[in-house]
Amino acid sequence: MNRAALHEISYGLYIVTSGSDGKFNGQIANSLIQATSKPATLAVCINKENYTHELISKSRKFTVSVVSEAAPMTFIGLFGFKSGRTMDKLKEVKTRPGVTGVPIVLDYCLSFIEAELEGELDCGTHTLFLGKVVEADVLGEGTPMTYAYYRNVKGGKSPKTAPTFDADAAAAKPKPAQAARYVCSVCGYVYDPEKGDPDNGVAAGTRFEDVPDSWTCPICGADKSQFVVEK
Ligand code: FE
Repeated sequence: MNRAALHEISYGLYIVTSGSDGKFNGQIANSLIQATSKPATLAVCINKENYTHELISKSRKFTVSVVSEAAPMTFIGLFGFKSGRTMDKLKEVKTRPGVTGVPIVLDYCLSFIEAELEGELDCGTHTLFLGKVVEADVLGEGTPMTYAYYRNVKGGKSPKTAPTFDADAAAAKPKPAQAARYVCSVCGYVYDPEKGDPDNGVAAGTRFEDVPDSWTCPICGADKSQFVVEK
């Protein structure tokens, strides 16, 4: 089987929130589709290890916010690489409660869709949740971020808990680069000197050695000392 075939599938980038009784969390999901139009339903695949999975199972509702291309990596990192079991991610961003009571993430999002759980399918490591849409609205104008944009333009990676994470591909050796690329040992973000990190004041063409010591990983916030040369 050639797993490269799977890499040709397109995805968006979304924040899925859930919870009840004062316990809420949100996480990044890319495996989300509108399953049907009338009635409108959404299907989203969530890793069983994630706190959001537990909250969807208990509360039987979830809300999706569509992430804009304008979202910085720190925002994606907050929802994609940090666990809601150890911090309240939703305190770090602007939210408001929706009709289901689940917080809607408003920062860097173009629209939101609220759903009540209608069914679920056990997929081994993940559960596919099917939700009936009960409310939705547009929050602002912009271009929705696709997973390809996140990876190719923003330099983002999949966490190990993502359904699209490919351990074989992640372990594959990249081609040698001219100036060394550095990998965050916490989240796997790759600092590419050719691209720099313009979102955080590091111009394209800056060698890792010349990045200020105050700079931190744009995804997980790890400091520069936690980066290692890409092998
Ligand atoms: Fe990191």
